Amino acid sequence: MNLDKAFAYIDANQQRLIDELIHFLQIPSISAHKEHDADVAAALDYDRRKLESLGFMTEVWPTRAHAGLFAERHVSNDLPTVLIYGHVDVQPVDPLNLWTSPPFEPRIADGKIWARGADDNKGQHYAQIVGVEAALRGGGELPANVKFIIEADEEHDGEAMAAVLPKHREKLACDVFVVSDSNFPDRDHPAITLSLRGIQALEVTITGASGDKHSGEWGGILYEPIDVLRWVLQNLKDFETGRVLVPGFYDDVDAPTPATRAAIAQRLWVDADVARAQGVKRLSHEVGYTPLESGTLRPTLQVNGIQGGYTGEGFKTVIGNQARAKISMRLVPRQNPEKIFDSIERRIRELVGDKGTVAIHRFGAGLPFWSDPDSPYVQAGLRALTVAFGKPAIMLAMGGSIPFVPQLVQVTGASCVMMGFGLPEDNLHAPDENFPVANFLGGAKAAAAYLAEVGAMAGAAGRK
Ligand SMILES: [Zn+2]
Repeated sequence: MNLDKAFAYIDANQQRLIDELIHFLQIPSISAHKEHDADVAAALDYDRRKLESLGFMTEVWPTRAHAGLFAERHVSNDLPTVLIYGHVDVQPVDPLNLWTSPPFEPRIADGKIWARGADDNKGQHYAQIVGVEAALRGGGELPANVKFIIEADEEHDGEAMAAVLPKHREKLACDVFVVSDSNFPDRDHPAITLSLRGIQALEVTITGASGDKHSGEWGGILYEPIDVLRWVLQNLKDFETGRVLVPGFYDDVDAPTPATRAAIAQRLWVDADVARAQGVKRLSHEVGYTPLESGTLRPTLQVNGIQGGYTGEGFKTVIGNQARAKISMRLVPRQNPEKIFDSIERRIRELVGDKGTVAIHRFGAGLPFWSDPDSPYVQAGLRALTVAFGKPAIMLAMGGSIPFVPQLVQVTGASCVMMGFGLPEDNLHAPDENFPVANFLGGAKAAAAYLAEVGAMAGAAGRK
C-alpha cells in the first residue's frame, strides 16, 4: 500500500468525507430513548452501507438491546487482521437550551464540527472507516485484513454487545484491535491510551434503632448510624497515605513497570497548575506515587455520596435511623472486581459488627486494562499518529473505565491499541459537543497509516 496516495486521497476528498460525517451526525441515534429506536437502527445502517460500498461483508448481530454490526474485508491469510471498534449511538441532548445550535443540525465553526456524537463516537470511528477507504482507494488494496465491530447501545445498556462477544469468538479473531474512543491530552500531542482502570461500585446502608430518635434523650446511649458509617468510611482508606485499608485489596495488584511510569510521564502535567485549574490548594496522591500515577496506574476508593439524618431547613436534634454511602473503587490489573467486592463487604460487616444492621448492594463492575508500552502494536500506533498529525505522539494512562475493551481483550486474546482522536474540550456527553475537523481528517490518516504499519510488521516478521 502507498501511504502518500492514501493521504492524498483524504486531502482530495475532504469535503465529501466531511459531508458524509455531517449526514451521519444528523441521525438522532439516542439509544436511551425508545422513540429513537429507528434512528439508532438507521445510524447502524449508515455504517453498514458505507462498509459494504468498500467491499466489506456485513452482519447485524442481535443483542438484548440494540443490535450491533460486524463487518469484514478479508484480503489474504498471509496478512495480519485488525479489528476496529466504534459505536453509533449517542447520549441524550438535554438540557437543549445550553446548546449554541441544535445538536442534530451539525455546523462547522472555529475549525470544529458541532453536533451530538461529533466526537463520541461517530466522528472518531468514522475517521477509522475513512482511513480504511483511503487505504483501499488511494493505496490500492488494504495492507491487512480488516474487521469492524460496531455497537449501538454503548451509551445506554453498555453491556449488551459485550454479552454476545463470546458467541462470536471465531469471527472476532484478530491480531490487534483498535479503539478510537479516547482523546489527546491537548492539541499538540497525539496520543495512545495505554491503560484503563476497572471499577467496582457498591452502596452501604446502615440501620440503627426502629426509627429516628430524640438526640437529647438517646444521644450517648444508642449507636448512631451516621457515626457507624463514619467509622466504616474512615477505616476503608487512610487519609494520610491514600492507601486503601481493605485487607487483601493490594494482593493481586500489578505494580506499574518503570517503562509504564516513564511513558505516562511524557505528558505535560504540572501538579501546581492542575491544582490551580481545579480550584484547589494542592493535589492528593497515594504515598510513593505522583498524583498523575495515583489517578491512573494505581487502584483507589472514592465515596461518591452520603445520605443520612436531618439536612433540611433549620435544625432538628435527631439521631437518624439510617445512613447510606455510595462507594466505588477503581481497579488495576490483575485485581478482580468480584474478589474485591467480597473483601470490602467482609470488612464493612466486621467494622459494623453488632453496632447496627448492614445492607450492601453491589453495582456494576468493569475489568481493568493495561497494554505494554513496548508492544509492537503500540509502537506502530505511535508512528502512525506521528506521521498523520506531524507531531510526535505520546502515551497516556486513563483513570476511567471502558468495560468493553478488557472484555474484547478477553474474548480475542489480541493486543488492544487505544488510538482516540478527540480533545479534552470536545464536551462529550454535554451540550456543544464538538470535534475538530483537523482531528477527523488527521484521525483518518492515522487509521490508514496504522494499517500500513501493521501490514509491514507482518511482512518483516514473516508471519504465517
Ligand atoms: Zn460516550
